[in-house]
Amino acid sequence: TEGREWCEGCGVTLQTEDPKAPGYVPLAALEREQIICRRCYRIRHYNEVSPVEQDPEATLSLLNQIAETKALVVQVVDLFDISGSWIPGIHRHTGNNPLLILGNKMDLFPRSVKSQRLKEWVYRTAKDLGVKPVDVVLTSAAKGTNLEQVAQAIEKHRRGEDVFVIGTANAGKSTLINRLLKEFGGGEEAVTTSPYPGTTLEAISIPLDGGKRIVDMPGVIRKDRMSEWIEPKELKAITPDGEIKPKGYQLNEGQTLFFGGLARFDFVEGARQAFVCHVANSLYIHRTKSEKAEELWVNHRGQLLAPPKDPSSLPELTRHTFHLKGDEKQDIVVSGLGWITGGNEKARVDIWAPKGVRVELRPAII
Ligand code: GDP
Repeated sequence: TEGREWCEGCGVTLQTEDPKAPGYVPLAALEREQIICRRCYRIRHYNEVSPVEQDPEATLSLLNQIAETKALVVQVVDLFDISGSWIPGIHRHTGNNPLLILGNKMDLFPRSVKSQRLKEWVYRTAKDLGVKPVDVVLTSAAKGTNLEQVAQAIEKHRRGEDVFVIGTANAGKSTLINRLLKEFGGGEEAVTTSPYPGTTLEAISIPLDGGKRIVDMPGVIRKDRMSEWIEPKELKAITPDGEIKPKGYQLNEGQTLFFGGLARFDFVEGARQAFVCHVANSLYIHRTKSEKAEELWVNHRGQLLAPPKDPSSLPELTRHTFHLKGDEKQDIVVSGLGWITGGNEKARVDIWAPKGVRVELRPAII
């Protein structure tokens, strides 16, 4: 690549080795007159942003700079994992700037679930985490639902300033930015990607009226979600891609449900009752007697109990015990995997999840 080490679009250093890292360009493309990285190429020709791997420390220091700028902060959260997709310590990043929250993936919920209820959930989570958003808008970036409302809310709350879009990995930020690009993008010339100074991180900028822009911040990685522990090719099996079909099980105490080879639910004590699983439709749920569970686990992980195909890719399971009060429905949430709704009667349940993956109890969301 003599004399052509930099992308003419964004200035990032070019490389031909790692398609996931910044500056990737396929070998064949080096023959072209003007060389741009694959990311810029896709933006220019398809209005499409492809994600690149980001350096977590650089990402954090970048987020910290938002507080010093006058801007609107837009946080994209995944409605399927609201608290798990939250950016930890977000108040430090926003400073005094207004925070608009976009609750993404509303298409995963059955129509019978009222948006008002989901919104209240987002507000409640925000309150628990000590922030007060100026607005919450629900959307489905994948389906293009409520995009007009998203655009209007951004325009209203930015008050003529720049807009920073932030979110944890997998919340759907890129999908949403792509949608916004198609709405606001105004053709290939208008959109720019550029490396953040002093880092290998890249930013997408969508120009707005008044010389301002929407800036796509790098995704924040949270290690306490199931999705971070699973190979990208197996991620599909646990990421719901359409309306979740709740799966109900009438269980007696002493019965166990396995969620592939990822998690295990034991109904330890209580009267016979229903537990309803909200996970990706394609995830295999296996029901068995708790007394047989250990043996099944040891002998069938990676085969019957999969994903993952390679059990050694996951940390070992640790147990979390919960006592359901029986006076209200409650969700036992495994971050990134989904939740089990119970609580029709008093019960003691044990949830086993890979060490480090967050498990929590909350009032039922549906
Ligand atoms: P990012 O890491 O935040 O940039 O997330 P992506 O945009 O790459 O999306 C992560 C995953 O969520 C992908 O599998 C997307 O297809 C999926 N996704 C994004 N938006 C939606 C949505 O509105 N609904 C559903 N069901 N899936 C979505």
